[in-house]
This record gives sequence, C-alpha cells and structure tokens, in this order.
Amino acid sequence: MRVQDGGGDAEPIGAPAVTGVSLDALRTHVLALAEGLGVKVFFRPELSVWEAEAFPFGEVDVPLITGILEYYCALHEIGHLAMSALPGLPGVGELDREHHAHAWARSVALVEPDERAVWGLEVAWRSHGGEVWE
Ligand SMILES: [Zn+2]
Repeated sequence: MRVQDGGGDAEPIGAPAVTGVSLDALRTHVLALAEGLGVKVFFRPELSVWEAEAFPFGEVDVPLITGILEYYCALHEIGHLAMSALPGLPGVGELDREHHAHAWARSVALVEPDERAVWGLEVAWRSHGGEVWE
C-alpha cells in the first residue's frame, strides 16, 4: 500500500490495532528512538533503502520515510547500532548482525510491515546470504 503524506484520503497504515499512524508519527518515532540511543539520523532524499547505512560512530544515513519499508529501513540501521552496543551478544557474523538489527526493528516498530516492506526486508535479507525469511 502506498501512503501519501498529509492528504485527507490517505488510509491509516499498520495492523488493525494501530490505526491512524501517520508517516510523521513514524518519523517522530525513529527520531525519538535514535535520540534515546545517542544516534544521529540523517534523512537523505537521494538514498534508496538499499543504500542506507549505519556508522559505528553513531550515525545513520537513511532515505526519507515515505512508507513503511523506509520506516523499517531506518529502524534496521538504528538497530545495528543499538545491538552492537550490547555486550555479549551471541554471533558476530554478518548474517548474525543483520538478524539482530531486523529483530530489534521488529521489536520496537509501531506498525507491522506491509506487503512492500516484507518484500524489501526479504530482498535485503537474501542479499546478505540469508535464506528463510520469517
Ligand atoms: Zn543491516
């Protein structure tokens, strides 16, 4: 589902239990989470979700949040920094780190991924060599 900013006829997004969550609310959520972790978020319009990046010095570069996929993308990148700050986390391989970032994103997200977000998350997961996407 495409979600337009602002427009009065934009449908609420997310699971039935979470109605009326706007893109602004999702942006605000991302920024609040990042602030709590001491992470700086740079929304860069020229980036696609495939180019988003987390930097170990506490910054993430992410595309604008124009849909739930972009929301999950931002959460995922912040998740990389949130999870890497946890001591003693099992697994240090690339796929482990991807898994941890996805798990963190899903644990904090205000809305369920829509069809497009599930597609994008699965593509990203497979691009890192992951197989079964749950
Ligand atoms: Zn990642």
